[in-house]
Amino acid sequence: MREINTTQIKDKVKELFLKANYHIDQDLMQRLEEALKEETSSIGKSVLQMIIENNKIASSEEIAICQDTGLAVLFIELGQEVQIIDGDFTEAINQGVKEAYQEGYLRKSVVDDPVFGRKNTKTNTPAIIYTDIFPGDKIKFTVMPKGFGSENMSALGMLKPADGAEGIVNFVVETVRKAGPNPCPPTILGVGVGGTADKAMVIAKKAIARKIGIHNQNEKYAAMEKEALAKINNLGIGPAGLGGKITTLAVNIDYLPTHIAGMPVAVNVCCHAARHAEGIL
Ligand code: SF4
Repeated sequence: MREINTTQIKDKVKELFLKANYHIDQDLMQRLEEALKEETSSIGKSVLQMIIENNKIASSEEIAICQDTGLAVLFIELGQEVQIIDGDFTEAINQGVKEAYQEGYLRKSVVDDPVFGRKNTKTNTPAIIYTDIFPGDKIKFTVMPKGFGSENMSALGMLKPADGAEGIVNFVVETVRKAGPNPCPPTILGVGVGGTADKAMVIAKKAIARKIGIHNQNEKYAAMEKEALAKINNLGIGPAGLGGKITTLAVNIDYLPTHIAGMPVAVNVCCHAARHAEGIL
C-alpha cells in the first residue's frame, strides 16, 4: 500500500481550484480563437473578443475568470492500493476547497439549506465529490468550479429506446433552444446517455471536462456530437445570446449500458467559463 496523507490531498485540491478559477485551458482558448474567425455577426465577434481578453487578463493577473466561481465539483479516481493516513479524506478535500476560495478571493456561493434560510456557509463547502475506485497506487483529481447560470439550464430526459439517435439529438438541441441566453453562451455541453437517471447526469457533467476537439471514440456517438453541434449553431442564439453562429463550442457525449426499458439522456450545460483542472498524487 502507498500512503498518502490528508495534508497532501488538501494542498492538491487547493492548488487545483485556484488554477481552474484563474486559467482557462489552452484547448478552450484555441477553440474560442477559431470561433472568432467562424462567427459572422459583428456583435457575436465582439463578445468572443471580450471573452478571450477576459481569460487572458484573469490568467496573467491570477484573478477569477468569472464572478461566479462556482460550486466545487470533484471527480476522484482513487487507486485501490492507496492508504489515506492522518485524517479524513472528505474533510481534507473540503478544507482544500475552503482555503482556495478564502485565500484566492473567490466568491463563496454555497447555501446550507436549499429551501429554508439559504444561509451562506462562507467556505464554498461542502463540495460535490464523486469517487471511483481504480487499480493502482495514485489518486487522480479532476476539479470543476461549476457556475450555476449554466447548471440551471441542464435537463434530464427519460427517452424511450425507440427515440434512438434522432431523439437524443433533438432533445439536446431543444435543451439549448429553451435555455436561450441564460447559460452564458457559447456553451460546452456534456451529454450522458444510458445508465440510470442519476448516473446519466454524472457522466454528462464529467464529459464537460473532455479536451475540446476530441470526439467519442465510437463513431456513431461522434456523429451525434457533430450533428447536434451543427444544429445548435443554426439556432442563431450566438455569443452571450446576442445573435450569431457560435452558440456552442463542443458537444461531448458519453454513454453507459442501460435497462432494456429505457434510455436516459442528461444534458449538463456549461458556460464559456468551462473551468477545470487535473492533478495526480
Ligand atoms: S454561467 Fe458561467 S459565465 Fe455565466 S455567470 Fe455563471 S460562471 Fe459566469
